[in-house]
Amino acid sequence: MEPSSTVAAQPPATTANEENPFEAMMQRFDHAAELLALDPGIYKILRNPEKQIITSIPVAMDNGEVEVFQGYRVLYNTSRGPAKGGIGFDMGVSLDEVTALAAWMTWKCAVVDVPFGGAKGGVICEPYRLSQGELERLTRRYTASILEVLGPDSDVPAPDVNTNEQTMAWIMDTYSMHKRHPVTAVVTGKPISMGGSRGRREATGRGVMLSIKEALRELGLPLNGTKVAVQGFGNVGGTAARLLEEEGLTVIAISDKTGGIYNRNGIYVKEALEYVRQNRFLEGYQGGEPITNEELLELECDVLAPCALENVITRRNAVNIKAKVIAEGANGPTTALADAILDEKGVFVVPDILANAGGVTVSYFEWVQNREGYYWREDTVIDRLQEVMVRSFAEVLDYSKTHNVNMRTAAYMLSIDRVAAVHRLRGIYA
Ligand code: NAD
Repeated sequence: MEPSSTVAAQPPATTANEENPFEAMMQRFDHAAELLALDPGIYKILRNPEKQIITSIPVAMDNGEVEVFQGYRVLYNTSRGPAKGGIGFDMGVSLDEVTALAAWMTWKCAVVDVPFGGAKGGVICEPYRLSQGELERLTRRYTASILEVLGPDSDVPAPDVNTNEQTMAWIMDTYSMHKRHPVTAVVTGKPISMGGSRGRREATGRGVMLSIKEALRELGLPLNGTKVAVQGFGNVGGTAARLLEEEGLTVIAISDKTGGIYNRNGIYVKEALEYVRQNRFLEGYQGGEPITNEELLELECDVLAPCALENVITRRNAVNIKAKVIAEGANGPTTALADAILDEKGVFVVPDILANAGGVTVSYFEWVQNREGYYWREDTVIDRLQEVMVRSFAEVLDYSKTHNVNMRTAAYMLSIDRVAAVHRLRGIYA
């Protein structure tokens, strides 16, 4: 059977669905599957989630009333190992979105070759309107309702949108109470005092920095004086900017949801971080001229690191982007339609599933340390993360050269190939 006729079953991205996360991911998946001439049977398996849980979560609210929240957990693929993926609390959560993000996690784990499958979870709620007590009860009841899939060998959640170390501590405790003994390896992103890994908090930003260094090396560009613009100044963007500055690059622009700051001579990143620590946002920081987030993306610079939101580089502004390298710290910052425009312009894009995989890599290290019961020093974590990021970058680059495709397509091809290979070996249990 001609794979191309069966594989490319989905309609191409149109301007109407440019910003749909499931379409954005599946567009790239279909393209890579076609180039791989993926067997139609494997294609069908990989295009569908393994398991989707929809659960109603009753919570006794502080005012004495009962509220029922809707929650999801999707295990997209577990062929290569236990499912891995965050749990987010947000009004925008939907089964479609959670499924797309779970698929994304499958490819991300395979790109960096950590032995995990992909999962994601979420609860539709407004976390900022809930008290700590309500959040705790919500988290514990959600955990209890997905207990049959959770476990160090089956599904290992992590923090995501509006969830944090405390949320993971509650999940670990709830799971452990049911198992009658402490099970630290059931979640990652825990506080260090209860089994979290050193270096986890900075891992994603560090991975972004490492992938930028590798990209510059490939393009023959120096570190010193290379101009970088970073969108988003939170965990990922703030860390990436600080580490890039330490490596000798000049960070000429940073931004957060209140807007951006531009300084052609370089922003003093540590000072800006301290300002944000004290004032929450960049607004009012005097280290440069104010610019908008839109202007930041189109600045004259060598490297652009979108580390805030999805869908910020679209068919509308891709043509105006001047950076030679884009390193996607955020998930899905570039739409599929923008890909083609950037390609034409010759922009070297380090795709999200590679550039921001430092976080899941150190989550893997956390899981390993929990299971060993032996905890690594921070420099060991940093060295091993560097090893994984540099190797993974080289493998994707090599794939892109061999197959004459861009880095994003290469990353998808490599990861799909790895997942498909395990499916072929394992066969179908019937
Ligand atoms: P964060 O909440 O720590 O920081 C987000 C930053 O983006 C903040 O500075 C915020 O002000 C800014 N922001 C929010 N809305 C914005 C807007 N409309 N315009 C410009 N800036 C805006 O979050 P984070 O952990 O740094 O995550 C950022 C991105 O990276 C997300 O897409 C996330 O999914 C992705 N990611 C994070 C990790 C991780 O380990 N933290 C791992 C992989 C991917």
